[in-house]
Amino acid sequence: MNDVVHVLVVSSVTPALLQQMRSVSTRLLVEDGAALLLNVFGAALRPGQAPPQPPAEGSDLDEMLAQAEVILAPRRLPGDTLQRAPHLKWIQATSAGIDFLDNTGILETDIVLTTASGIHVVPMTEYVVTAILYFTKEVSRLMENKNSKSWDRFNLRELKGQTIGVIGLGNIGMEIARVTKALGMNVLGVRRSKPSVPVPFVDAVYRPSDLGTVLKASDFVALAVPITPETKHMIGEVQLREMRPNSVLINISRGSVVDEAALVVALKEGWIGGAALDVFEAEPLSLGSELWDLPNVFMTPHISALSDQYDDRAAGLFCENLRRYLAGDQLINQVDKSKGY
Ligand code: NDP
Repeated sequence: MNDVVHVLVVSSVTPALLQQMRSVSTRLLVEDGAALLLNVFGAALRPGQAPPQPPAEGSDLDEMLAQAEVILAPRRLPGDTLQRAPHLKWIQATSAGIDFLDNTGILETDIVLTTASGIHVVPMTEYVVTAILYFTKEVSRLMENKNSKSWDRFNLRELKGQTIGVIGLGNIGMEIARVTKALGMNVLGVRRSKPSVPVPFVDAVYRPSDLGTVLKASDFVALAVPITPETKHMIGEVQLREMRPNSVLINISRGSVVDEAALVVALKEGWIGGAALDVFEAEPLSLGSELWDLPNVFMTPHISALSDQYDDRAAGLFCENLRRYLAGDQLINQVDKSKGY
């Protein structure tokens, strides 16, 4: 019961955060495996993340992986992780999605998975509000006028009273609902499970089978679902045609939730008014994609979750889960592998 638990941190965190993890318990042997990040795990650094330090003299990265019972994992794991880490019992992801585990075989094992769901809610909600205001206040037109020195006065639309459909009412979707409700919007929501109690700040909650009802009623549609077999291409031609000609699709979830080819047609032919896209079916987005040139697209390179608070929040969540793990308590954000999130 009091055995040492080998914890491998494959994330480039500051010495202070490593120390925070070590101080959770003397039973933990927390090792800095950040050097595995780029070469072995093939994961990219997040913008602003310091490059990993070379391994301490005498430390053997392969041995650390072979000993690891717990891994704090970046957004990519090598396909042979199961062979390299035979003692692995728990993976704490630093992302909310677990699609990075596809093709590792880990989803078919008993290894416990926990996500970082919850740590992104502030920057992602702020991103969604930015996207909504970008279109409502016609920011691209304002900037064009400024650049051409044009004193062009026109009526700006109000947000108050417009309707947002939030697809996915988890940590991110609930915060989007709270903030957009505070801005005076009507908030409709879609979630997978039937809510047994009313969801705060959401005027009406629907099941996925009623998605069309929400799309038809919404001025903005924000996608905050995980990628699963059920959500892949959940927004395709049929759904885009159900949206209003002026409505705006906001995708901060995963690119494959939207059929991108159908979206390009919808944006060109005016089935919808615009799109704010942080995620794409293939990333980085190909230079040949028509999305780059469409005037009714606001887009960013998968950065809606990024902020200078990211590592602190991820480490705080991990430390709480380490405490629970040692105590044998239920971990925060444990993935239900049968649901895929
Ligand atoms: P949560 O697990 O907290 O919430 C997921 C929500 O999606 C739940 O409300 C769930 O319903 C709902 N859902 C699942 N399947 C369906 C479906 N078929 N139809 C409708 N709703 C469904 O996750 P988060 O809110 O933390 O994150 C959501 C996703 O956002 C992540 O999985 C990730 O893919 C993406 N993400 C993207 C980031 C980025 O950088 N762009 C950063 C962070 C997250 P129920 O409540 O019934 O379970």
